[in-house]
Amino acid sequence: MNALAPTGAEAVPDSRGLNLYRADPALARLAALYLPPDLFEHLLPHLDRLGALAGDSLDELAGIADRNPPTLRHRTRRGEDVQSVEKHPAFREMERLAFGEYGLAALSHRGGVLGWPAPMPPAAKYLLTFLFVQAEFGLMCPVSMTDSLTRTLRRFGDPALVARYLPALTSQDVDTLAQGAMFMTEQGAGSDVGATVVSAAPLPDDAWALTGDKWFCSNPDAALAMVLARPIGAPDGIRGVSLFLLPRILPDGRANALHIVRLKEKLGTRSMASGEVQLRGAVAWLVGDPGAGFRQMADMVNNSRLSNGVRAAGLMRRAVTEAAFVARRRVAFGVPLADMPLMQRQLLKMQVWAEQARSMSLQAAEALRRSDAGESGAYALLRMLTPLLKFRACRDARKVAGDAMEVRGGCGYIEEWPDARVLRDAHLGSIWEGTSNVVALDVMRAARRDGGLDALRAHLSGLAVPGLNVQPALARAAGLAEAAMAPGGTHLTRQAASALYHVASAAAMAWEAARLDDPARLAMAGMVLRHRVLPRDPLAADD
Ligand SMILES: Cc1cc2nc3c(=O)[nH]c(=O)nc-3n(C[C@H](O)[C@H](O)[C@H](O)COP(=O)(O)OP(=O)(O)OC[C@H]3O[C@@H](n4cnc5c(N)ncnc54)[C@H](O)[C@@H]3O)c2cc1C
Repeated sequence: MNALAPTGAEAVPDSRGLNLYRADPALARLAALYLPPDLFEHLLPHLDRLGALAGDSLDELAGIADRNPPTLRHRTRRGEDVQSVEKHPAFREMERLAFGEYGLAALSHRGGVLGWPAPMPPAAKYLLTFLFVQAEFGLMCPVSMTDSLTRTLRRFGDPALVARYLPALTSQDVDTLAQGAMFMTEQGAGSDVGATVVSAAPLPDDAWALTGDKWFCSNPDAALAMVLARPIGAPDGIRGVSLFLLPRILPDGRANALHIVRLKEKLGTRSMASGEVQLRGAVAWLVGDPGAGFRQMADMVNNSRLSNGVRAAGLMRRAVTEAAFVARRRVAFGVPLADMPLMQRQLLKMQVWAEQARSMSLQAAEALRRSDAGESGAYALLRMLTPLLKFRACRDARKVAGDAMEVRGGCGYIEEWPDARVLRDAHLGSIWEGTSNVVALDVMRAARRDGGLDALRAHLSGLAVPGLNVQPALARAAGLAEAAMAPGGTHLTRQAASALYHVASAAAMAWEAARLDDPARLAMAGMVLRHRVLPRDPLAADD
């Protein structure tokens, strides 16, 4: 036995109670770069408190909610055919924190959240989300759906509809809050949205009756859902699909004709309900142009893809924090794991992937702010950064979460610790809101149709700093993207999207490093280019 090695329970490091904000000093430094100075100062205590919650009571609530998934009740006690989704009190408490106290679904749409008088820029929302999701992933879906539905409704909806529902959608009182959902996927129409068969028939007073099955509906009992349906007589394919706002309760107080058939039994996001919904002539209102349903829904999907990328970055950060915590305290062969060269290499790889995703999240948040402000070229950049982030970060989160599990050894595989939940949740990011193939194809669509590649090139030139020349790597990645977009090149799409992500994230990290005087971050940026984009002997001795 080694005299230095702890034994018994002392030998098992427990991170419960760790402040996830303080454990991650880069967070405050990056927040200072991406937020206006007054908002940064204002948010610091809120980030600190959320970090404390996320490493302690919120994490505990998330574990309880994960072990006690929602259940579906089909009838009221009087026998009425009205479904309700029963959620565990732990989930309700997390809803109070996310929608109520932190106002995550409201803070982009109105002032008054967390004592700030104006709507906050996207970077603020995503920094708070980044911390919250480190404890609870499932609830972030309803939060993001509510935020995204509100955005899409405000952009395209009839002003009377907006006026009717905006106060409830942005309420911080969970009793008056109207949550949002998105019912798009059908059994035969997932990636291929143009195959939508749920139908819409006109009713008096500009209303429509929706009929058919929606196959994946997260937050199925939400007060409002954005639904894709095909008006009777509309053309086949994507151009015949329209966007509708579906209330669960009609303005006269009656329940709408929608039936939650069952809830899905899921690998992850177990705290949150995802169900199948039958629309039985349910009343809904058209949102925007009848022929532009998919384009308008794409606005909601893109917003939620960005949020998904941020969530993947948050999950990776949780994984890195846990792994670093364990590695510094767990002793084997008489030394802490963190002193072992192989462990150092493992931790560094995880950290680099997590930092890439965080920088890309913040860059995309800033592009969204500039795009919404109408700045020239910002929309094209946002169109590019969003699927790049969603595609690559969600895939990397699977790997990083799995590697962090391994750092905890056998305990990592045990459900009492956060690793298993993080890993199960991390796998969903690459499936919903578009699978990896579909999102990588969207990168190329953005590059070609929306001028995204040129916008990215221009943006990366603006990020250039001494110490890292991204041009050779950019030339390689852009060349591969051109090849992927050429006839017969589709099979290169994912490789090209990954390469563009690596170049963009390395450029962003180098730009941040220069402003933060952070040579370690600059070194990580260089590593990304050398290991992921530039030609390299696979057996070369490592950095
Ligand atoms: C837990 C959970 C919650 C969800 N919540 C919602 C929700 O709230 N609302 C909603 O509308 N949907 C929701 N979804 C549905 C989700 O968005 C879809 O499952 C997803 O988009 C994939 O569609 P699909 O299941 O029909 O698979 P398919 O579209 O059949 O895809 C199967 C495979 O084919 C590949 N593929 C498809 N097209 C191409 C192509 N052109 N080139 C190469 N490969 C291709 C895909 O990458 C995938 O690997 C949810 C899904 C899950 C798992």
